[in-house]
Amino acid sequence: MSTVTSKQNSKSLTDKNAARHDMQQIEMSIVSITQPFSSISRIRGKIDTSQAELWLLPNVALRLLFTNNDGHQPISRVYTVRAFDAEKSEIEIDLVKHADFSPAMQWLNTVQVGDSINIIGPRPHFSPNFSPDKHVVMFADDTAIPAIYSILQHWQHGVSADLYIESFEENIIQQLVIFDQIQIHFHHKTNHHQKGWLFASALQINDYTNKTIWAACERSEARALRDFFLENQKMDKNDVKISGYWKAGVSSSVLDKVRENHYLQHTQQGKNLAEYDDLDMPN
Ligand SMILES: Cc1cc2nc3c(=O)[nH]c(=O)nc-3n(C[C@H](O)[C@H](O)[C@H](O)COP(=O)(O)OP(=O)(O)OC[C@H]3O[C@@H](n4cnc5c(N)ncnc54)[C@H](O)[C@@H]3O)c2cc1C
Repeated sequence: MSTVTSKQNSKSLTDKNAARHDMQQIEMSIVSITQPFSSISRIRGKIDTSQAELWLLPNVALRLLFTNNDGHQPISRVYTVRAFDAEKSEIEIDLVKHADFSPAMQWLNTVQVGDSINIIGPRPHFSPNFSPDKHVVMFADDTAIPAIYSILQHWQHGVSADLYIESFEENIIQQLVIFDQIQIHFHHKTNHHQKGWLFASALQINDYTNKTIWAACERSEARALRDFFLENQKMDKNDVKISGYWKAGVSSSVLDKVRENHYLQHTQQGKNLAEYDDLDMPN
């Protein structure tokens, strides 16, 4: 398996983390494809890495690079490393299936055990702002359940939490390792028209004193959550860690282009990475 450090590729990822972390472009060889749930495909892939400790961190993401036959740059999509088996050097990824004829779904429809795909990573994504005196509140749709799974594997002892999770799979939380001090609130989604349960749940919590927020879901809902916590609840930005993982009706390729321009404008205004918020971009 080839290992090529590709700073150029990493930079083209456009998000702030890409610039911050020296990620690698490496090959992943698919060792298994399973269906733990009807709407989720679980891919395990073997990599050759000298950075196992980075792949073992909580909630790291990678880009799958789908090659084009027309000679253009590969199309890439971001997924979470649900788990990394350091002994076997295997990455586990859960892909939520959806109805669009998209790059990730086309790849998923044809990929077979033994195939290889280039990936870029690992990109550390955020964990809750753990602190012994703060109660964690997390909001996740099914694309963010792998992130929740990984964060729970690294949960800080003694920290209490409420987890608001929605999924098309009724039994999905059975796969999560839940500690005594963690309370799960689950919403079984049955169709894509059911929107806004995470946001509605946030509104129902009476008191946000001594709480720290983590959320990852569809972008419009993520933005509504962010605005609620920052503007309405006046929470400190360090306690509001919210990410939009996908946008209804918009391809991630479009989002990546908008992000690239938005980030360029941001730096041209003399602002730094710490001030950049992905949910500020116009999409
Ligand atoms: C940090 C990060 C981690 C992520 N981790 C995961 C993960 O572990 N598992 C996972 O499944 N996804 C994850 N995602 C989300 C994933 O990258 C997007 O869903 C991505 O758009 C899928 O690419 P695509 O080629 O299928 O669709 P695109 O080409 O991007 O979009 C085509 C169409 O499909 C729709 N679409 C895309 N995703 C969904 C969806 N989930 N449900 C319904 N419609 C959709 C879009 O709205 C659009 O209309 C993550 C995203 C980020 C930023």
